[in-house]
Formats: sequence, structure tokens, C-alpha cells
Amino acid sequence: MALTGLQIYKLLPQTNCKECGFPTCLAFAMKLAAKQAELKACPYVSEASKSQLEAASQPPIRLITLSTDGRKAVAGNEIVLFRHEKTFFNPAPIFVRVKDTDADLAAKAKEMNAFAVDYVGIKLQLSGVAIENASGDANKFAAAVDAVRGASDFPLILIAKDPAAFEAAMAKAKGAVPLFYAADASNVAALAAVAKKFNAPLAVKGDGLDATAALAEQAKAAGIEDIVIDPGARDFLGTLTLATQIRRLAVKKNFRALGYPVITFPGEGVSSADEELVLAAQHIGKYAGFVVLDHFTPASAYALLVLRQNIYTDPQKPIQVQPGLYEINAPKPESPVLVTTNFSITYFSISNEVEGAGLPAWLMVADAEGMSVLTAWAAGKFDADRIAKAVKTTNVESKISRKRLVLPGHVAVLMGEVEEALPGWQIDVGPREAVDVPAYMKLKP
Ligand code: SF4
Repeated sequence: MALTGLQIYKLLPQTNCKECGFPTCLAFAMKLAAKQAELKACPYVSEASKSQLEAASQPPIRLITLSTDGRKAVAGNEIVLFRHEKTFFNPAPIFVRVKDTDADLAAKAKEMNAFAVDYVGIKLQLSGVAIENASGDANKFAAAVDAVRGASDFPLILIAKDPAAFEAAMAKAKGAVPLFYAADASNVAALAAVAKKFNAPLAVKGDGLDATAALAEQAKAAGIEDIVIDPGARDFLGTLTLATQIRRLAVKKNFRALGYPVITFPGEGVSSADEELVLAAQHIGKYAGFVVLDHFTPASAYALLVLRQNIYTDPQKPIQVQPGLYEINAPKPESPVLVTTNFSITYFSISNEVEGAGLPAWLMVADAEGMSVLTAWAAGKFDADRIAKAVKTTNVESKISRKRLVLPGHVAVLMGEVEEALPGWQIDVGPREAVDVPAYMKLKP
């Protein structure tokens, strides 16, 4: 758990020599606690204090990175129980499981690899493929890994029991860092040895918290640092309870044996693909590190990816687009200039409506610190000055033949002030809702 400024101060030399750039050791300690300074700025910290301070600065949930040549799937590094306390950092990677007995393995991997959706300017995609050695045959497993790698650039989770299967699979996974799933009490030593050989993270699967923590400790003692945990539960209540206890123990109690991302398999706790989707949503909210689905459809993946995006958005920072001048449907000099703010959803609402209607327009996005029109206006972040500034910085005047701006209907009250701030411009007030903008544009082109 993070140390307080006073606790850090007790570990510093307390000579107030100022070499760190701060007037006192206490001032430096306070900055360290706020993560606004680095320990290496003090050349006089003893080795013992250094290791204590470094241990305390470790995140309570270890960062685990799976990778292929081109892509990564990252989980962990979370430091809070609730996103409103700060934010969640690494969106739970979503994998889909295939089996080495599936005939259409490569086609499935290809389809999932190609799946991508644009959500308010963010490209959302699945994170990887989990390949299960359902056949029990190491060669078949290796062939499946080869087929998936040939059809996709996804990071991998390899699911098998036999160390020989992992050995065979890794011959076809050169350059990749997959997760090995999963060691249990019967094979933890053997799987830890093979995971160590390939420098791969290892998942451990226990039955409950105590058994899972014990397995994680065993894997760690065997030299594995990158561990993922599966506490065994599969149903709605069991997974919620255990995942919450694990997050609480890791974050609040700094319980290192459970300070790892949790892997979940929502398809194993339900009886239909629809229920799997609901349970996966629960896992994304609380508190999965990796989620492995058994079913993929574009519709279900889209729903989960958008949910995940929303949960892992910093609640203190609205999703924004870059302020500036955007062209919609190849506008001409006489096309209207629509004004809006740089809140992503506001921007995409308007641009989608206008683009969908096939109408050319200039969309001038003012910097309103990522807030929507009404919120920004109420907070004093969207006013005549900001609109005039956007006119200047975008140099919109050089692209148009008539100086006319269309304000959002919600801020009709700004019309007079904008007229004063932009002499010579015609200021019109458009509709309140984005959906009504095309009709307005047809009426007043
Ligand atoms: S350099 Fe170290 S000893 Fe000197 S004031 Fe800074 S923290 Fe204290």
C-alpha cells in the first residue's frame, strides 16, 4: 500500500541538504507521496530504505503484458476499488476461446481479428485468442497455435495441462509472450518450470482464496513473477464475491499473494450465450483482469467493448476530440459553419447526423475542455470569447465565402455576445438537438 508523506519522511536521511531540489526532506517526502517526484533525486537514501520505498511504490495489482509481434494485451496496475476514486487504468483484455479440435479455427481467428468498431472516434477491438488443447494431443495443439498465428496477430492464452503441450505450442509461437493457463495443485511445479523456460506469465487456478493464494506463492517461489489468478468460481455470485474480495485484499490490505489480475471464463458459469454476455459484463465491471469468452458475435463483442470503454474512461476527464475545423461531405466556401464543443459524444452526434444526410458543412469545434454544450456553457467554458477564439485559431474565414456561424440551439442566449465578439459575422441559432440539424440546414442552407 502507498506510504504517507510522513512514513516516507522517516525513511529519508533527514539532513535537509536540498540536493533533491526541495528545501527539506519533508517537502521531498510529500512530493514523493503525491508521485510528483522520483526517489532517485535524493542521492543519500540508504539501500534498506530504498528497497522499502520501492516495494511500497509497487502497484497493488501486478501489471501483466501478453504480446505478439504487433499487439499487446495488458491487465493489472489498478490501484482503486471504485473508478470514481481515481480511474481504472488497463481495460480488461477480452479474449475468445477456440479449441484445437475446431475445424474452422483459422477462419474464426481471422474473423475476430478483423472485427473493429469506431466508437466516438476510438477504435475498439477484441484483445486476443485463447487456444485450448481440447484434443490432449501436443502436436494438434501446436498446429492450432500455428493456424491462429497465421490468421491473426492476436496475443494468445494457451490452455493446456501437459507441459509437453506448452513446449510444442511455443515452437509455433516464437516472438510471442502468451499466458500459460493454468497450474493447479497437481502440476504447479512442472508448469512453473516450463513457463519460466519461455519467460511466459503463468495462471494459477485454485479452489477459493486460500488455495489460489497458496498456488501463487508456490509459482512465485519457483521463479515466476508474472502471475494471473483464477480463484475457481464460475457463477454470478461466486465470481462477484471472490473478485471483490481479491481486489479489496490487494488494494486495501496490500496482500501480495493475491495482487495479480484475475482471469474469468463467463461461458463456464452459464447455460447460454446470452447469459455469458451478462456475466462477462459483470466481470468487466468487477474485477476481471482477463475475460475469456466462449462465443463471439459482432453484436455481443460490440456491447462488451463499449461497456468496457465506459468503465475504463477516467471519470474526471470527458472523452474529447481535438478542437479545430472539421470538413463534412467535402464542404464548399458557401457551406454553413456549424459550431459545437469538443465533447466526443456531442461532436459525433452532430457530425454523424450531417454526414448521414449527405449535407456538406464546416464543423467548428471550440475548446470547451471536453464538456457538452449546455454543461460547458453553465461552467463558463463555452462562451463568445471561446467561439471567437476558435474562429481565429481555425482560420475558418479563409475557407468560406460568407461569414455566417450557426450556434447550437441550447446556447441561443450567446447570440448577442457572439455578434459583438465577431463584428461583420452573421450569427444564426440552429436547433437544440443534433437530429434536427439536417432539416435546419435544408431550410436555411
Ligand atoms: S537530497 Fe535527500 S537528504 Fe537532501 S534534502 Fe533531499 S531528501 Fe533530504
